[in-house]
Amino acid sequence: MKLGVSKKLIGVPGIGLTLFLVLAIFSYINLNSFSSIQKRNDELAKKENLITDLQRFIHKILMPPNDYLITGDKKERENFAHLVTEAASTFEKIRLSGGRTSEEIAIADEVEKRFIELQQKAMVLLSTENPVGNKEAAMLMEEMDAFAESVVSKVEKFHDLIKRELDVHNERISKISTWSYRIFISLTFVALVGMVLMILIVTRGVVRPILELEKGAKIIGQGNLEYRIKIETGDEIERLGEEFNNMAQFLKEKINEVKEYSEKLKRTNLQMEQNILHLYTLYNISKTLATTLEMEKLLKQVVENVSQALKLHRINVMLINNDRTEMYIISGIGMNKKAMEIRCKVGEGVYGWTVLTGHAEVINDVSKHSRFKPIQGLDDDIGYLICAPFKGRDQVIGVINAYRLGREEPFDKASFDLLTAVATQVGITLENVRLFEETKTLSITDSMTSLYNYRYFMECLNEEFERAKRYKRPLSLIMIDIDFFKQYNDAHGHPKGDELLRNIAEIFKKTMRKSDTVARYGGEEFTVILPETGKEMAFTMAERLRKEVEANDFECAETQPSGRLTISLGVASYSEESESFEEVIKRADNALYRAKEEGRNRACM
Ligand code: GH3
Ligand code: MG
Ligand code: MG
Repeated sequence: MKLGVSKKLIGVPGIGLTLFLVLAIFSYINLNSFSSIQKRNDELAKKENLITDLQRFIHKILMPPNDYLITGDKKERENFAHLVTEAASTFEKIRLSGGRTSEEIAIADEVEKRFIELQQKAMVLLSTENPVGNKEAAMLMEEMDAFAESVVSKVEKFHDLIKRELDVHNERISKISTWSYRIFISLTFVALVGMVLMILIVTRGVVRPILELEKGAKIIGQGNLEYRIKIETGDEIERLGEEFNNMAQFLKEKINEVKEYSEKLKRTNLQMEQNILHLYTLYNISKTLATTLEMEKLLKQVVENVSQALKLHRINVMLINNDRTEMYIISGIGMNKKAMEIRCKVGEGVYGWTVLTGHAEVINDVSKHSRFKPIQGLDDDIGYLICAPFKGRDQVIGVINAYRLGREEPFDKASFDLLTAVATQVGITLENVRLFEETKTLSITDSMTSLYNYRYFMECLNEEFERAKRYKRPLSLIMIDIDFFKQYNDAHGHPKGDELLRNIAEIFKKTMRKSDTVARYGGEEFTVILPETGKEMAFTMAERLRKEVEANDFECAETQPSGRLTISLGVASYSEESESFEEVIKRADNALYRAKEEGRNRACM
């Protein structure tokens, strides 16, 4: 049976107290009857005394020294009267004493009857004037004595009665004391058992669970939320323990929730930081792409930014060659010189495959990828790879490849997204660069001959002139004009004249050095800028050009006045510091004019 703490604490003492009360009432009753017996015994003792007194008085009445008839004088008469009165009053006291039984009353009545006789005889005796020697008085005396003895013997019966009652009382007192002893023993036993029970119940049912509760509360309070309090008392303490356990469970769940939330927050934070970094990278790349039109510089920036954002040790950009058969690396990080020279075939391996599909590919386990065939010097030690192809106007023009080594982290989606976004940007920008380069080339190129045009010639000459002037370096210029070109046009038509112009331009390009700039000055006139070239060398170069043209078999050249197609050249070199480049042109022009004047097919200086 399981009881509450209050019942445990109140119940056992309660039962004990009830038992104690019952025993106390019982002992009270015992004590009460003991005291009533005691009281009765006192009465009996008093009565005994009175009876003894009465017997004493009657004996005195009977005894000869008290005999009234010895002297019969006044003193003797008074003494006798006194004894009779004392005896009468003693008897009266006996009669009046309480607790009289029917037997006692019967004895008392008989004693009274005889005592009255005795009194009457005594009264007659006392009223007799001279009792001494009086026969009648003596007889009366004898009769009175007889009554007195009868009273004494009757009174003796009172003794027996009292003795009997006292015996009964003694027996009852002995019973009461036995019971009192038993009650005392019982009370002591009950008190002892109650105390033991109380100690047991309080220890097992209250103290021990409270200690367990305290221990559990301490452990839970120290943060061990797995701990559970085990109390099976079925009372408030057990419920308190359960509440503690519930609280610990609740706390554990809440703490787990907080932990989960914090982890989520951390992950989100990391994700956001990564996203910001990626966005920043994209922004940087976009900025670079928007401000740089030099492809190599631009791609260098791209690989640097991406490698920083994705923490890469190896990255490269591959471009496809003009006939779209091979891919070559144009920019990279973590690549040695040999790796930079590697060529990959379009359509082969992962790199070549992405060129064909146009879709980016992430390989997070290179060893299990069917298309991945490691290229020595390029793919060594790698574990993870993203190939992101980028398109020009309508076709793939290259691939960005991001690498991670086997011991590094695999790529996540954010990395893949960043690289594909960068690839798209790079594709658009490279297309822009190409368009820009094309436009730029067109703007400085003569469309018919593919030589530089007049505008570029002027710019270039200006620059070279300034440089020569600043560094005091030699600079020469050749002006060229086709001889009798009008006649050629007239004889064979303009289209043929155009073709001739293109052929001559080819000869110029072929003959001149890389450092020289050949331009179409206008119509059938050309010019060559020769940096770092003095006038003698320039003249030699002019002669070489003239000879090359003269030696070439041009179509329909036989109709020309000399039977061949020839050119005239004027050479001028920069000489004085104060001279402007226009003056150099003018001098070259003058030299050309002279060459014409002197009979054409020659170079003048
Ligand atoms: P020379 O210079 O020897 O004195 O005689 P020329 O016949 O060459 O004389 P000129 O320099 O005056 O004539 C230039 C001719 O070149 C005139 C023009 O018909 C021709 N010409 C100029 N530009 C072109 C061109 O783009 N195509 C063709 N087919 N002919 C051109
Ligand atoms: Mg001309
Ligand atoms: Mg001419």
